[in-house]
Amino acid sequence: MATTLRDCVYGQAVGDALGVPYEFRPRGTFLCTGMVGHGSHNQPVGTWSDDTSMALAICDSYRELGRIDVDDIRARFVRWYREGAYTVDGLFDIGGTTARALDQGAGCAAGSDNGNGSLMRTVPLAFMDATDEEVRAVSAITHAHPTSTEACVRMVRVARVLSAGESPAAVAQEIAARPVEEVRSGGYVLDTFDAALWCLATTSSYRDCVLAAVNLGDDTDTTAAVAGALAGIVYGAESIPPEWLDALREKNVIEHCLG
Ligand SMILES: [Mg+2]
Repeated sequence: MATTLRDCVYGQAVGDALGVPYEFRPRGTFLCTGMVGHGSHNQPVGTWSDDTSMALAICDSYRELGRIDVDDIRARFVRWYREGAYTVDGLFDIGGTTARALDQGAGCAAGSDNGNGSLMRTVPLAFMDATDEEVRAVSAITHAHPTSTEACVRMVRVARVLSAGESPAAVAQEIAARPVEEVRSGGYVLDTFDAALWCLATTSSYRDCVLAAVNLGDDTDTTAAVAGALAGIVYGAESIPPEWLDALREKNVIEHCLG
């Protein structure tokens, strides 16, 4: 069965929600085994965060317009930032670069602006006929440095190859061979890229992939959101543990954006 945007987005949202309670917790100081509430952001169980909200804003734009429209996506990001659109109960987390870019109406392009804030929302673009140039432009709404824009282009390519049936091991051969001590899971875009692929390539189920991502620690929700989006593509939404899907909040917002 061909994978779809739905597999990817549910995979992302569940991974995000699993990681939210543990964001900023150093590796080895906790063990995530399932969906819990509260913790770092004191959110109820099943609450997803900015990663999923921004991905949903892109999905909603594409659903309505049938093409990538950077100005429309930016306007939806601003509605998320200022009005809490595409959230469960309002915005509770936003990256510094993202906030600055949306305030000034132009993406940030300094070397220090290479957090994972655009990568975290980028996998769904694999299902939207987005060209490399469009993927770059969507990243550049907030993250305009080439390190970020090219990471997004590479991630969309990886997602498409996986969606076409290539194995995670083949896609991430070099990364999969790394010992966990060499896998960084902070907020730097290239670390998140590698960490997500490492989790995908060193596990063999949706569940194990996203738990591995959260248990890397630090930027738990974003690592698990990206790893979860890829695992959703590889294993399908039907592979997501039903108790996690049941716990996921505001599925109606997700469904609306998927059309
Ligand atoms: Mg987040």
